[in-house]
Amino acid sequence: YQCRVNCLAEKNRKMLCILSFSLFADIFSCLFLTLCSTYVFMVQARGIQIRENVKNIGAQVLEQVVRGAYSINGTDYSYDFNESESDAPSTTYLPEGFTYLPSQVCPEKLPSMKGRLEVNMSEISLEEVERSLLEREPTMALGGFWKPKDCLPRWKVAILVPFRNRHEHLPILLRHLVPVLQKQRLQFAFYVIEQGGTEPFNRAMLFNVGYKEAIKDLDWDCLIFHDVDHLMENDRNYYGCTDMPRHFAVKLDKYSYMLPYNEFFGGVSGLMVKQFKRINGFPNAFWGWGGEDDDLWNRVQFANYSVSRPYGDLGRYMSIPHHHRGEAQFLGRYSLLRHSKERQKVDGLNNLNYSPLISRSRLFTNITVSLSRKLAPVADY
Ligand code: UDP
Ligand code: MN
Repeated sequence: YQCRVNCLAEKNRKMLCILSFSLFADIFSCLFLTLCSTYVFMVQARGIQIRENVKNIGAQVLEQVVRGAYSINGTDYSYDFNESESDAPSTTYLPEGFTYLPSQVCPEKLPSMKGRLEVNMSEISLEEVERSLLEREPTMALGGFWKPKDCLPRWKVAILVPFRNRHEHLPILLRHLVPVLQKQRLQFAFYVIEQGGTEPFNRAMLFNVGYKEAIKDLDWDCLIFHDVDHLMENDRNYYGCTDMPRHFAVKLDKYSYMLPYNEFFGGVSGLMVKQFKRINGFPNAFWGWGGEDDDLWNRVQFANYSVSRPYGDLGRYMSIPHHHRGEAQFLGRYSLLRHSKERQKVDGLNNLNYSPLISRSRLFTNITVSLSRKLAPVADY
């Protein structure tokens, strides 16, 4: 009997040992995989950055050669790669306790705008975000319409977010951005433009749809084109229409906080409504990832606007890491970009048809739209 008990105890010990060993192996391999994928992610980001830097340097050298060839004495003006950072802050922020009247226009550099922000990327449900934001600010109307009560909003800003299957990102963005816009004392609302159907994602066409629907609600002054995964790191990055067109997302964590190339206009950008109308909006012909932001940059240049950018660290953003599962690159982007100018007249706000499905939730308006090429026929150019 004693022998049997001992034997059983021995067996249990062995089992325990095997169990704990396999648990340990699991934890170890999990840790290993996490480290590996983080490393791969970093290498990818680094790769993009190096590629773009090489491109930048190439562009600078080419620019200098071209300028050199055309200048009379060979010492023509030099190419200033950092010219975008020329808008250094000219005035200081208002002091703590500064008061203003409800009849006055809200200041632009409010004491509540403190600078560096904590970025919280932890996942949360939309219901939870709705609950906590409405508890803080019960005056938010259905659809997330909000305006300050203690001063007259300086700008009416529509935030347009292109969207498909990023349900975990949206509540993170709203939790982060809504309180910032309230601190900035802007009148605003969010429009989430969701692509239905099976066609490749078309970020640009969604922005055009978002614009057309938003202006039916209100005479917005400016539009912010905002990726769902971009979180600003500084609340002095003011989303009013000052000095537009504007590129907001200048320094991204995934690009080591460096502008990938001077003409980069992606992530978060903004235009005044009248400017957006004048450039015929975004192109509709970019299906899949890439190129539509460069085309918008070209459109802005052809209209003789110059793009402003927030100064220094104000333009820092973190982006929520994600993969591109099943999202195709748009390989035709380079040939389209060669004809930005000709296409600007025939492809944009003026050739777009669609039938949206609109619903208002507590924090935003959802515009669901099924997109296809036949909705934006392009005449010969
Ligand atoms: N997007 C989306 N679903 C997609 C692809 C893109 O919602 O399947 C939206 C989303 O707002 C995203 C933006 O388009 O932030 C830009 O796409 P993505 O994040 O894939 O670009 P990248 O991070 O590579 O610049
Ligand atoms: Mn992204």
